[in-house]
Amino acid sequence: MRRYQVSIVRYEKPYQSVQKAILDCNGLAKMATGARVFIKPNIVFWTRACSFPKWGMITTSRLLEDVVKVIKEHGIKDITIGEGMVADPGDEDTPIHAFRALGYETLRKKYGVKYVNVMKRPFRKIELEGGISLNYNEDILGSDFVVDLPVLKTHNQTVVSLGLKNLKGTIDIASRKKCHSPDRRKNLHYHIARLADPLPPILTVIDGIYSLERGPGFDGRMHRKNLLIASGDLLSADMVGARILGYEPSFVEHLAAAIERVGRPKDLSDIEVIGGRIEDTVSHHEFDFPYSRDQWGEVPLALARQGIKGLFYRKFDSTLCTYCSRLNGLILTAIRQAWQGQPWDGVEVLTGKLMEPTPGMKATVLIGECMYRRNRNHPAIRKRLAARGCPPDPAGIVRALNGAGIPVEAELFSQIDTLPGFFMVRYENNPEFDESFFRID
Ligand code: SF4
Repeated sequence: MRRYQVSIVRYEKPYQSVQKAILDCNGLAKMATGARVFIKPNIVFWTRACSFPKWGMITTSRLLEDVVKVIKEHGIKDITIGEGMVADPGDEDTPIHAFRALGYETLRKKYGVKYVNVMKRPFRKIELEGGISLNYNEDILGSDFVVDLPVLKTHNQTVVSLGLKNLKGTIDIASRKKCHSPDRRKNLHYHIARLADPLPPILTVIDGIYSLERGPGFDGRMHRKNLLIASGDLLSADMVGARILGYEPSFVEHLAAAIERVGRPKDLSDIEVIGGRIEDTVSHHEFDFPYSRDQWGEVPLALARQGIKGLFYRKFDSTLCTYCSRLNGLILTAIRQAWQGQPWDGVEVLTGKLMEPTPGMKATVLIGECMYRRNRNHPAIRKRLAARGCPPDPAGIVRALNGAGIPVEAELFSQIDTLPGFFMVRYENNPEFDESFFRID
């Protein structure tokens, strides 16, 4: 039986730890002399409005620089760093700000690497197995070798977000929406399992200097973990990463699907772990915010504990995508602030592409164009309040919730960019959470 090598290395020193992780797993074996190399970090979120917690959410610039050094030492000259972060349509300044703040311009000057905003580059439609197609960034398709740098994190839709999931940042927005398909079989997990198919050989280095619980966003719980996981086999790196986060690969739908496609064992028995031991590094990371459901409502547990009643705001499913995902947390925050102690009158809020109204509700709020189109004429709806658009219009969300008797404030939605800054307080005065990991000197 073939053995796949995965290295687990304690992050102790810049460069040396990264070099060890890559060389221990023989991770550059498929990188040919003169290869064009594409590096994919993870910048899942950025704002120009405030300082916000990045630990476990964004690939550290420290790791990125050390990876660039290791590759250059192997004689590689053509290196492109590429990321397609989701910003508001037409917002070209935020990605530029992110790249500069994270030191990518310094990397360009120091090492001669290029960096590109994937969203501004050409895409090419690629037919994948199973009759699906996605539009991939031309730079990664045209490269000879990919270095995938996800962060060690859990994710509220996919349980973990590691190497496979990180590749979603190289397809265009239309394709990302397609990934969150309402098709019960060819769903989000089905798409993620196939994301690496058209790409050249991939070295995956999972950045576990910090990890994130209840990711993928800044509202999750960040931890200092000091760990690197690397492999020349993407799936093996993800399987080990999932187990370190406390999940069997068979529990993670996209990993289970990917494993089944290639006929490998799910129990990691064909993986040789080099360096550390998985057992010594496992720490269970919750992936989801719990919800509470009774006759008084269905809301995240935090809202139920606050006493909120009369609201039925089901947990989003895997069809909620891109823009709506970014707004969901804000809507819940606005609802918490709007609560004045009197039960609301049977208000249901529906999101994503698949949800159906519950008969008997007094008012139904439809968030996003997909929900509007699916349910606009649904006979179970007594009072329909829709926030249309993709992305949904924040003013429309406020109007819809106000119309349902929930007095959320418009001002909060106009301050959307500053909200992440409030989460900094959790990490202040804790030297473990060091902002310098996201700078390059
Ligand atoms: S409306 Fe929301 S769920 Fe529908 S495609 Fe747009 S972002 Fe995705």
